[in-house]
Amino acid sequence: MEFCVKNRLKLEFKIISESGPPHDRVFTCQVSEGDKLLGKAEGKTKKSAELKAAKIALLVYGIRYQPNYISMLNEFSQRKKQDLNFVEESHLGPAHNPDFSNPMDEFRNPEKLGKGAYGNVVKVQNKIDDQFYAVKKVQVLDKKVLEEVKVLARLEHQNIVRYFNARLGPDIPSDSSESSSNSSEYSRGSGTCLYIQMELCENGSLKEWIKKRNLENRVNKSVGLEIFQQIIEGVRYIHSKKLIHRDLKPANILFTKEMIVKIGDFGLVTRMTGEEAKKALERTRGTGTPSYMAPEQKHNQYENEVDIYPLGLILFELLCIFRSEHERGNHWINVRQGEFPSGFEEQYPLEKRAIRQMLSHDPKKRPSAEELSRSFQTMKTLDSQTY
Ligand code: ATP
Ligand code: MG
Repeated sequence: MEFCVKNRLKLEFKIISESGPPHDRVFTCQVSEGDKLLGKAEGKTKKSAELKAAKIALLVYGIRYQPNYISMLNEFSQRKKQDLNFVEESHLGPAHNPDFSNPMDEFRNPEKLGKGAYGNVVKVQNKIDDQFYAVKKVQVLDKKVLEEVKVLARLEHQNIVRYFNARLGPDIPSDSSESSSNSSEYSRGSGTCLYIQMELCENGSLKEWIKKRNLENRVNKSVGLEIFQQIIEGVRYIHSKKLIHRDLKPANILFTKEMIVKIGDFGLVTRMTGEEAKKALERTRGTGTPSYMAPEQKHNQYENEVDIYPLGLILFELLCIFRSEHERGNHWINVRQGEFPSGFEEQYPLEKRAIRQMLSHDPKKRPSAEELSRSFQTMKTLDSQTY
């Protein structure tokens, strides 16, 4: 507060909600500047919620008006005797964003591509180079949001979605459908968003591909295995960089115009805690979408085997047709327990064994991406000799 007075900031902090059992309360603090809502933050105590809200406000405020905001943040941090660990100026600095302009101004013809739990993705055309890109907008609720781009920026692989750049800007509807919808995620509006420009995957996601394939009612095993092999290669690369994707599922696996597989959505790559995993599970339950998440991901202790578990479910889905969501739901529970639909084993004996291993409840019994890469290469060769 003292700091606000000194810097003539008229920020107002208000605890707007309180929830959870007595031993695990969650307070939500809202920070605003006049009638403009700057952001909201949660904390286990009122003080910590306020502190987090202050961080958001300073981040927004600093980017917008203050050339020396990093030193302001550090001064604030020292005062609170806490390492708030603010991002470096080079990433957020006003030099990159002198007037906090709309990052979407560089593009024309935005078209909605998808909307997930965190982001909103549009197809756009760059006004200068005329090329098409995908731009994902994510609200900056805390600095962890920036991890997605920090990770994506250092990955370079045929099966990972290519990153171009990231900008910070105000929360402006990125396409007409967003401005007309009253989606709860976006009406919250923290004020600042991260706009991630990446390669456009014109052929949509594996989720859409599976849906279409199910309507056609025909499994093409070699196409399925080819897609799966490319997913493995992407995961092998991610694990070789000592990273864990944490959210592998068909909606996060994309296809380029040439039908090359690209793993996308690195939003959870470094930030998902057990608590967040639980919430994500609840969210998927709410939407009726079966979960791909490994059972142990609900807890805080896990390693890169959490990425192998969903691969087992993905391979199963690549080889099996469900005629309805209801049918899919029933099989899903069974497969997660290691029970397969009748006839599956006869038709796909090798694949069934591999899927069972990937779905081992003991993470240590799951094969590594490296091992999978080798065995599927062999399986493909055997297949091509048999048929
Ligand atoms: P989630 O609900 O999985 O957390 P999210 O909000 O983190 O989603 P993404 O998964 O990155 O966001 O993107 C949401 C959707 O937008 C994807 O499922 C996909 O349909 C589409 N999409 C994302 N990136 C691209 C891209 N580069 N090219 C084409 N479509 C994309
Ligand atoms: Mg996603």
